Amino acid sequence: MFYNNFDRVHSEDRFGMVGKTGDDFREDRRLRIVCYKCHQAPLVIAERNWMDTNNDNSQRYQIVVACEHCGAVDEFIVNDGREGKISKLKHGRCPVSADQIED
Ligand SMILES: [Zn+2]
Repeated sequence: MFYNNFDRVHSEDRFGMVGKTGDDFREDRRLRIVCYKCHQAPLVIAERNWMDTNNDNSQRYQIVVACEHCGAVDEFIVNDGREGKISKLKHGRCPVSADQIED
């Protein structure tokens, strides 16, 4: 799958907690969101990739998720331009919130 092509750099240790409260979108956590292909939940966070520093000094991340059932891959952005803003799923087009993370 394409997400294996990303460098497996665990950048959150260096960037993610710099003066800011971290978010809970961590690798291997599950999200109660249905897959855009097979319409089953959950999606598993496969990768967390640091992208950029926003103007408010929050850290922007790409979160890559994979369906447990069919393996479809989707992605969204945490701190999308400012702290606390989360983008919609790129393919699923549904909003993502931290409330959807399974315990
Ligand atoms: Zn699926």
